[in-house]
Amino acid sequence: MKAAIHEHTLKLRHTFTIARGSRDRNRNLFLRLEHGGIVGWGEASPNQRYGETPATCRAALERLCAALPESPRAYDPLLRSLAASLDGQYAAMAALDMAVFDWLGKSLGAPLYRIWGLDPAKVPPTSLTISIDTPERVRARVLEAPDFEILKIKLGGEHDHDMIRAIREVSDQILRVDANEAWQNREQALREIEWLARKNVELVEQPMPADRWQDMAWLKARSPLPLIADEAFSMPADLLHIRDAFHGVNIKLMKCGGLLRARDAVMLARILGLKVMLGCMIESSLAIAAAAQLAPMVDYADLDGNLLIEGDPFQGHSVRAGRLHPREAPGLGVRPGPAWQG
Ligand code: MG
Repeated sequence: MKAAIHEHTLKLRHTFTIARGSRDRNRNLFLRLEHGGIVGWGEASPNQRYGETPATCRAALERLCAALPESPRAYDPLLRSLAASLDGQYAAMAALDMAVFDWLGKSLGAPLYRIWGLDPAKVPPTSLTISIDTPERVRARVLEAPDFEILKIKLGGEHDHDMIRAIREVSDQILRVDANEAWQNREQALREIEWLARKNVELVEQPMPADRWQDMAWLKARSPLPLIADEAFSMPADLLHIRDAFHGVNIKLMKCGGLLRARDAVMLARILGLKVMLGCMIESSLAIAAAAQLAPMVDYADLDGNLLIEGDPFQGHSVRAGRLHPREAPGLGVRPGPAWQG
């Protein structure tokens, strides 16, 4: 297998502010694998919250690529053994996993969702994320997104209630709230969630810091809304704690190291009776199209990373009326833009 790594900065359409801070761009890494005349593509979106930078991600990708066998066809033992050798660099692993599945699907001549026996019509509608901003700007963003039946609102800033009131003045779209670990004590978190329930919010993601398992179990017993773990989840084994403290889990390819382990996590979450959201980081259409292959298995889709950026370097699935439509094309169904073709 031949491997090449490209780095590319994705520029956000709007400054993206969550409880932890703001960003205008994200430097992602793209992996091109070639074997037998077939090319597979993968993407990594390194995230500092999980101990990743573009440099650590590139170093991990280089290590992973150096350990590749001649052919990626026996993907299951290959990806599991490489993941076991990682030092927490799961976005790098996700890029390799995606490239292997893109290659595999192309070599078999079928989309990955077909190989896995999934129905693309079952992909849930995606939410569109609106990050923390002034009530006026939030209201303007909502008015720009009438096609989306679900909006995901980032909270944990100075003006949470004003933001929600501003949205409700102009919209009755379904709202999901993500506090990104912002609320520091459980009584405050419960008060916020009860207020949000009166504003017809559907669910709340990661209300408290990820390590506050006992407080979250207390909150789960009292919350009028379903609580979804995001930062508290990386590995499938985390789900054994999550079932006591949350109603569901947000699974992302970048957190668990790609499609193979994300599929393990979806199946284990189901066995444990948890609701499942499939989410994303700041990603191009490549990684979002990869997640879309798995999305028929989940309850909630939050796969809008490519909609938040300018100059998407890949083409993949289409989004119509807030719904993702994976292409009926082999592998992940993605095509690089003109700069990376050939
Ligand atoms: Mg989240």
